[in-house]
Amino acid sequence: MYDHQEENWSYEGKNGPEHWAEICEIYQNAAAFPDQSPISLGKQELGSPSEQLSFHYKSAEFTRHFAHFAVHLTPLTPENHLIFRQTRYNLTDIHYHMPSEHTLDHRYSPLEIHLVHRSAADKLLVVGVLCHLPEKPRFAEKQSQEALPREFDPAELLPNGRTGFHYRGSLTTPPTAGPVLWFVFEDIISLKQPLFDALGALKLAKNNRPLQEKNDRPITRFEAKKAGQ
Ligand SMILES: [Zn+2]
Repeated sequence: MYDHQEENWSYEGKNGPEHWAEICEIYQNAAAFPDQSPISLGKQELGSPSEQLSFHYKSAEFTRHFAHFAVHLTPLTPENHLIFRQTRYNLTDIHYHMPSEHTLDHRYSPLEIHLVHRSAADKLLVVGVLCHLPEKPRFAEKQSQEALPREFDPAELLPNGRTGFHYRGSLTTPPTAGPVLWFVFEDIISLKQPLFDALGALKLAKNNRPLQEKNDRPITRFEAKKAGQ
């Protein structure tokens, strides 16, 4: 359905996840980072929130394009951002994986949204939101991906429950470099069709990286604060 010629990696076969590190030196070096993502997460790991993440999201215009086996939304302006430990991280990309990459209590969700943020010092912070699809999902045709910039509020992608898991990991697509600060909400949202449309509503071929070793790394709890709270 789509032309993946531009990618030298894939999710199956000889360039699949177990071979990413063999494809080139850049991927090999990235995979040498010990704390890889995704990992399995379990509610028993949660204590009291020890970290706070402040969301400063509002409606903005996003462009859409298909790349790296996913639909990517790119904000036209940099006002959407997070504050973590006094550092600002601007929202730079939104995409989703089908099924989810992280598991919650050993369960995959049908879809996982990634809100990718970057600091001025080029540090990465990704927020993960596990989702159920709309009850009777309507999937888009390819041509709708060429849509003009459209406006939506990324705050609509956040669950009502404000807590989740925080850990140190990596990118989940090559090069799988780290560290990446991960924040995965513990509530699974039910994606409504208009929001799914805003994300592209494309039925993706399986594009989730397999679970990686946790290696006893600490997993803490975070609490999200919305601007004004
Ligand atoms: Zn992702």
